[in-house]
Amino acid sequence: MSENIIIAGAGHAAGQVAVSLRQGNFDGRITIVGEEPYLPYQRPPLSKAFLAGDMELDRLLIRHERYYQEHDVDIRLGTRVESIDRPGRSVRLSSGDQLDYDRLVIATGSRPRRVEMPGVDLEGVHYLRTIEDVERMRPDFKAGNNLVIVGAGYIGLEVAAVAAKRGLKVTVVEMAERVMSRVVCPEVSQFFEKAHREAGVDIRCSRDPKSELLGKGHVDRLRGADGVEILADMVCIGVGILPNTEIAEAAGLDCQNGILVDEYCRTNDPHILAVGDCTNHPNSLLGRRLRLESVHNAQEQAKTAAATIIGELKPYAQIPWFWSDQYDLKLQIVGIGGTHDRVVLRGEPDERSFAAFYMEGNRLIAVDAINRPREFMLSKKLIAQGARFDPETLADTSIEFKSLADAALS
Ligand code: FAD
Repeated sequence: MSENIIIAGAGHAAGQVAVSLRQGNFDGRITIVGEEPYLPYQRPPLSKAFLAGDMELDRLLIRHERYYQEHDVDIRLGTRVESIDRPGRSVRLSSGDQLDYDRLVIATGSRPRRVEMPGVDLEGVHYLRTIEDVERMRPDFKAGNNLVIVGAGYIGLEVAAVAAKRGLKVTVVEMAERVMSRVVCPEVSQFFEKAHREAGVDIRCSRDPKSELLGKGHVDRLRGADGVEILADMVCIGVGILPNTEIAEAAGLDCQNGILVDEYCRTNDPHILAVGDCTNHPNSLLGRRLRLESVHNAQEQAKTAAATIIGELKPYAQIPWFWSDQYDLKLQIVGIGGTHDRVVLRGEPDERSFAAFYMEGNRLIAVDAINRPREFMLSKKLIAQGARFDPETLADTSIEFKSLADAALS
């Protein structure tokens, strides 16, 4: 098999596609084209250890340069794929080059959703997606400074945790009535709000979004719609992401909240696949389509796409999972809630170790585990197999979770 593969984008999924192709003994040409100046790297530490200064840039990389050299993977960094010529099976790059492909893998990821707020272009206002974004934040990210975070999603809260530990004075403003409202149940939101308040973070929910940022050249405060002002030496905005689908759309590929792919990561063009944050894919275990923003999805879709290219069709069907680190709290989420009719708590929020089980009737559909790795690990299988539980037994911590899981699976 000596096809010529181009990978558009050089992020987590792109790196994994190249690695999986070579692991699968693919001996064709592989070229990765990425607009950032870095080799494929993992983003989670950008709002955790890397932001805290506890991790070297080198350790973010999925593979070091030597790997790509030894495995004959050509990487063109600082270069955008500008357009796709589907009939001619080639891509045009920002360098002016044109590259032919037998198969193209689109791995363009996503970008932060921008807010329309007066003053958003002032210096000191940041979004967080790349290494360069973190480097830009560093000069103001110092003890004693006032940091305002717009958006209490997981990225905003992770930044809040790192900043509070560093000694910044942190205020989080959120439009919704509770933190992480898009991903966790009210009980878990309340728990994290309390943890942040105990760490000195000022959390302000239910805010009118019509705020403005003020300052002369550099931001110095946020003024809310109610006229209340919050001092800000820097502002970090984290209000969600948008999938990078533009080159796919311009090429006429089917897109709808992401590039539409099947369970083998194939688009509606037989010569083009897509993986990671930029896709919208079917999940047979959940019986619906999803667009996910997670490392697990980026890695697993990349493996699926590589298998498809090699000719070993393996459908991608897994229960999604995700994690977030805030202070000493590891939140691990497995499954997708939303259709649940009740939440059962197991363990003690006050002991900073508990799990919230999302039930649809007696069927387990999702779990938020806080410092509960066992519940998280076992729940992956339980959810995939549609395990059923008596809610009262599930809440009873005098019974080992492993025994409950074994009984449900037998
Ligand atoms: P990306 O990693 O975004 O890579 C896409 C790359 O393609 C980018 O470098 C982009 O510049 C490039 N690109 C785009 N368009 C073009 C083009 N036309 N030509 C060339 N290059 C292009 N997930 C978790 O599971 N757990 C976490 O704790 C977690 N924490 C996170 C913290 C932060 C701060 C961020 C930003 C993300 C976090 N995520 C986390 C999400 C996770 O990092 C993403 O889901 C993952 O990076 C998606 O990988 P990807 O390859 O699809 O996209």
